[in-house]
Amino acid sequence: MSEIDCQETKRHVHEYLHNELSDQELDDITAHLANCDSCETDYDLETLINGAIKQSCTEDVPQELAERVLAEIRRIQANGGVH
Ligand SMILES: [Zn+2]
Repeated sequence: MSEIDCQETKRHVHEYLHNELSDQELDDITAHLANCDSCETDYDLETLINGAIKQSCTEDVPQELAERVLAEIRRIQANGGVH
């Protein structure tokens, strides 16, 4: 699995939220967010995704993706993450 750094993660925030990343990139970023307080704060995922869902008439962020991302982050964090 490729490691991505904070700069890379923050550069992809738009694509991430608009589901424009490959599965691999999505997984890498999700894993990074779950283990990186700095990036998690930067993305402010719950706020961003919840806001996107409220505007779901645009179909920009599928609810399925939002739920998958949040579930994955919670799963990683429940497993201890990196602290
Ligand atoms: Zn980071």
